Amino acid sequence: MSVQRDELAKVLGEHTLSYWSSEEPDSTRCKCGWRGSGFDLHRVDTILAAGWRKPRTITAVAEIDALPEMSVVLIPIPEEGGAICAQKDIAWFMPGGADPVAVSGGHLPVTVLYTPEEPR
Ligand SMILES: [Zn+2]
Repeated sequence: MSVQRDELAKVLGEHTLSYWSSEEPDSTRCKCGWRGSGFDLHRVDTILAAGWRKPRTITAVAEIDALPEMSVVLIPIPEEGGAICAQKDIAWFMPGGADPVAVSGGHLPVTVLYTPEEPR
């Protein structure tokens, strides 16, 4: 977590306010050279451009089945108070596990950690 925290702090540190005047429209300037209005949105855009995303949550078994092979999800196991990580192959498997993991509606919502189509 602290590595991610440091990475995000670095992104934000590269986009700090360098100039602003209430008397000049679109005068806001960022340390990176950006200039305009909507400084907060500019900073959000830089965070998104750096690859930061809120994890996708799936709430229907059909959506889980539709994920491409090699996708990785976090499956909550409510009866055990935890969660397991599973990767899709011909079925869902825990890393290093030989037995398929059955995913049912009782495991929802599932958090998508990675799909081959999305940037990490
Ligand atoms: Zn900037």
